[in-house]
Amino acid sequence: MNGLPDLIVSAVEESNSLYDKGKCDISITEMIGPPRISVLKREGKAKSDVADSLFALQGSAMHSIIELAANREPGRYLSEERYFQEIDGWIVSGQYDLIDCKEHILADLKFAGITTYKYGVKPEYVAQLNCLAYILRQHDFTFKKLQSWAMYRDFSKMKTLFGADYPECGFEVHSVEMWTDAKCLSFMQERIALHRDARENGSEPCSRSERFQKPEATEYCIQKKGAKKPYRVKDSREIAEEFKNSLKKPDDYEIIERQTKSEPVRCALYCDVAASCDFGQQVFAEKQAQHT
Ligand code: SF4
Repeated sequence: MNGLPDLIVSAVEESNSLYDKGKCDISITEMIGPPRISVLKREGKAKSDVADSLFALQGSAMHSIIELAANREPGRYLSEERYFQEIDGWIVSGQYDLIDCKEHILADLKFAGITTYKYGVKPEYVAQLNCLAYILRQHDFTFKKLQSWAMYRDFSKMKTLFGADYPECGFEVHSVEMWTDAKCLSFMQERIALHRDARENGSEPCSRSERFQKPEATEYCIQKKGAKKPYRVKDSREIAEEFKNSLKKPDDYEIIERQTKSEPVRCALYCDVAASCDFGQQVFAEKQAQHT
């Protein structure tokens, strides 16, 4: 399988088998994710490639070592325990990675690329941590801080020499805004309603943002008359006009408007149920047509 040694394949399978969301209607991760993916996975349609799970394997290894370290100070740290809460008739389960009982911190460990945090903590990570904090608060935990602990899988010491906004080392702690109980509850109720509707009435394809597909936009190509390719591409007509007028012979050029095409990246690369989803099948068919 992809030339991977059998032992590595076994390690991935072993790591996957450790995941258990317990007896619940939905896990927090599933609840935050797209309903269609959840529905198809529940129907047993997920097919994952071992090679695609190698980062997850490294993430699991990181979790295990941090758990071992936490167990050295059981009075201070708690790790990897699952809790359950009924919300609108559904049992929701969530497992925390780490609680620092001394500092009252709930921390979520991520093994991620540096760009994952380029614009701060992703909204889905914020929601995930807050939903978990809500469930834990119903079980008498209290928190002063929520944190996303990022272990960067692509950190390069060399790059620290060039970029001021590059992390200083391969690990960073990111603070996460704490929601009120009311905000957590209404968010979870909304998500549960969406998932319930998808299970009972059929699911819609994932939204554009859930498909990791950039919004469509218009771009302006400054092109030499008769040429096949643009000389320059700009985001607005105004900037394109300005650029064209700055050229030596502006009349030799024209501005052509075109729509950007963006890929549904998740469907094409990261979706375990794409082969069973009509939208995913359409993406693959279009790709195949482009290559024939
Ligand atoms: S293939 Fe795309 S639309 Fe279909 S479930 Fe996967 S991510 Fe969603």
